[in-house]
Amino acid sequence: MSFYRICAMTLTNLTRANEIGANSYLLDFGPDGRVVLDAGMHPRAEGIGGLPQLEKLKFDSVQTILVSHAHHDHTGALPLLMRDHPGARVFMSEPTYFLSEPLLHNSVQVMLKQKAEKGIAEYPLFTHRELDQVVKVWQACGLERSWSPNGYPDPENEPLTFSFHDAGHILGSTGTVLRHRGRTIFYTGDVNFTDQTLVRGAEFPREGIDVLITETTRGSQPRPENFSRDGLVEQLAEALEQTFAKGGAALMPVFAMGKTQELLAQLHFLQKSRRLPETPIYIGGLGRSFCEIYDRLAARTRRNHSKLRLLDDIEYQVMDGRRARDFSPKRGHIYLISSGMMTENTLSNVFAQEFLAHERHAIFFVGYCDPASPAGRLRATKPGDSVTLNATYGPQPVRCRVEHFDFTAHAQREDLLRYILEVKPRVCVLVHGDPPALAWFQQELAAQAPGMKVVIPASGVEIEL
Ligand SMILES: [Zn+2]
Ligand SMILES: [Zn+2]
Repeated sequence: MSFYRICAMTLTNLTRANEIGANSYLLDFGPDGRVVLDAGMHPRAEGIGGLPQLEKLKFDSVQTILVSHAHHDHTGALPLLMRDHPGARVFMSEPTYFLSEPLLHNSVQVMLKQKAEKGIAEYPLFTHRELDQVVKVWQACGLERSWSPNGYPDPENEPLTFSFHDAGHILGSTGTVLRHRGRTIFYTGDVNFTDQTLVRGAEFPREGIDVLITETTRGSQPRPENFSRDGLVEQLAEALEQTFAKGGAALMPVFAMGKTQELLAQLHFLQKSRRLPETPIYIGGLGRSFCEIYDRLAARTRRNHSKLRLLDDIEYQVMDGRRARDFSPKRGHIYLISSGMMTENTLSNVFAQEFLAHERHAIFFVGYCDPASPAGRLRATKPGDSVTLNATYGPQPVRCRVEHFDFTAHAQREDLLRYILEVKPRVCVLVHGDPPALAWFQQELAAQAPGMKVVIPASGVEIEL
């Protein structure tokens, strides 16, 4: 076998389309091993169609699974991938290890509910019991340290090693370096280069990367002019003040993990500085579970306000399904409730009925939502026009204030482009973006780095790198 054959490496995009879906990528290093990066579930698609193309992988043919962060579009199919590859070792950062377990148990709950409501026969795709077994295989790895695919640190003379680097997106999010016989591949996962309230911006390697596999989430959104995070916080504070002055309350649909903790901390600081009245902030039960993990790991992670304990220092109340039955929003109250995309029958979707009906209330979005999701539809509806958030309730006129504050956890496209140009990889692989976002990066790189090979990997096609 020639040297070239030994060093050959291929990538197969297992995501079903070029989109932010069920993210998963296979790297094949031939005799040195097969690695899968992430195994997510699609944020909207249901059943088998919501999974990556795991059927493309021969039974027990993967040795290593590397998880970039705990978000469902990166971990949701992990138990299924592990079922198909019982010999595989699974590695992730310590926070991802703690966050992913409750997240996947919640996923079982959601699937059981959807089975009952929508009759999706194959649900649940995995069970609580299977999950308990699966978790035992996971191994948490320290960041900025080289690891062997056999699970021990600082290996010598191994053909293939990996290391994790803080990606600044949510607690525990990482980019992954793979070193293979003198070549370096770097997968960004989901990245943010600027500080959020709690999570600090990415600390990524910038030198010696031959192949860069990068997310492109915000490729179709230019950075707003004069954008600053402080300015955005000020705008949100003003909008909340105006809502309260009218006697209204604010619903903020958020993801239970990440956005809930960031916003809870931000609102707490606004209250402490007397910018907002000290009324309790309502969060969901799952959001509370993730706050607990954020608190437990506060001192062990690279974080702002590492002394702040969300559950001890902040005045909050838990809102669960039982309390939702006779819910009516109270003046001056803030409801940080999931789901962020207002998926049917989640609390934020059910609560929205109450808010939509009254001019004094407000619904404030603070993160990404799929344009086809209920949240996406509401955001696209003009005031006074009707929107259908839930088939049971039918179309409903939008009477309350609806606004979007872009507290993104993803890098601005300009920052990400600058990073790619600085790294100057030989090959740049564009993933985790909708077609217009991918196209923007492709065009910019063609113009600004004409020697760089830029690849948008078609779904299911093996490409040589
Ligand atoms: Zn993410
Ligand atoms: Zn993602």
